[in-house]
Amino acid sequence: MHELFRRVPEEERRWQERANCLGVDPELFFPERGASTREAKSVCAGCAVRLDCLEYALRNHEKFGIWGGLSERERRRLRRRRALGEIGAINASA
Ligand code: SF4
Repeated sequence: MHELFRRVPEEERRWQERANCLGVDPELFFPERGASTREAKSVCAGCAVRLDCLEYALRNHEKFGIWGGLSERERRRLRRRRALGEIGAINASA
């Protein structure tokens, strides 16, 4: 299970029960600076709740780790684009 999931309030945790990373080494999602994120992202790529996870991380300004298949830098870029109105909120049901 993603280590940071423990910080997610109970009522928001339902999507985590379907996370592809359940049982995967959490360290995979927190690579050292400059280390590959490929393996973590491949776990996320097949995750049914990827968009829920990403939206959670964006909403909560998660600064570290791979969430929803995106790195910190990628999430920052996405937040910036949202702030500029270039893209809307991520819709998990889309
Ligand atoms: S998107 Fe990745 S980090 Fe998020 S729940 Fe799925 S597998 Fe875990």
